[in-house]
Amino acid sequence: MTERIAQGLYRIPVPLPGNPLRELNSYLLTGGERKLLIDTGFRQEECRQALFAGLAELGVDPRDVDVVLTHLHSDHSGLAPEVAGDAGWIYASGPDRDYLEHMGSDQWARIDAFYRSEGFPPELLVQNRTRNPSRALIPAPTTRYRTLEPGALLEAGSRRLRCILVPGHTPGQMCFWEEREGILFTGDHVLFDISPNITPWAGMEDALGSYLESLRAVRDMPVRLSLPGHRGRGELAPRVDSLLEHHARRLDGLHAILRERPELTAYEAAGFMRWRIRASSWKDFPLAQKWFAVGECIAHLDHLRMLGRVIRFWEGGVWRYRAV
Ligand SMILES: [Zn+2]
Repeated sequence: MTERIAQGLYRIPVPLPGNPLRELNSYLLTGGERKLLIDTGFRQEECRQALFAGLAELGVDPRDVDVVLTHLHSDHSGLAPEVAGDAGWIYASGPDRDYLEHMGSDQWARIDAFYRSEGFPPELLVQNRTRNPSRALIPAPTTRYRTLEPGALLEAGSRRLRCILVPGHTPGQMCFWEEREGILFTGDHVLFDISPNITPWAGMEDALGSYLESLRAVRDMPVRLSLPGHRGRGELAPRVDSLLEHHARRLDGLHAILRERPELTAYEAAGFMRWRIRASSWKDFPLAQKWFAVGECIAHLDHLRMLGRVIRFWEGGVWRYRAV
């Protein structure tokens, strides 16, 4: 069932089976000769059916649609090549386009080596390679990508979307700003019911630091309606404040964990952090969630190191962390 948000602006809910995010919000902007679809869902059957049924319900021929990606994650990008086909375009920021065009076994091998160096058990990484849905459901290779520069304008009928680069959740996460109506498509930069997952990225020294800066950058925009990548909507400024506080608390909590138990790896430290997941222990954490949790822990450790509150040292093939 699609939702009409405003004249020529619709939400197509795309279910994400078995994923704690539950649903992706795909937004369709009609009104122009080319329709714009913001984000698409995983490359899997449940998502495909919901997305294409939504387009059909709105009387839109996928051949008239160009895709705009808020970021590279496969719950957003997975179906983009199928929607764009051979005639449409897939717009993405430069950094995220670069990842999308080079996703492959090399990249996963590098990421696995990185997680091993943070204490992640190698045998679990092998399992993760086959079971982590974000890996299995990446978009099919295509040559239809186009780069969105920060500040560029996308046209959809009478609407103009300004591309705002907000690195953090991914290196090239973007928000799209319709100034006349005060509508901000936030992607996964700001979510209202869950806190966006922040993990380390090659080439980003301090992903969480970038994220916090990008949060402050959008806080005071004159937004009347925020349209997030997942779940419900809310007021932007108070939500930004609560996300800033959330990470400040996480940073303090992690620092305290390391003060009590020096020389932990990131994998071990993540086991002492609090997570909103139903699992009786760290050992029983679903593997994909554990992988995201360790990533989030590393991003917080990187930021603590940047702030001079934590140091790390290399020992026995892994990084160990100590509070200062
Ligand atoms: Zn997402």
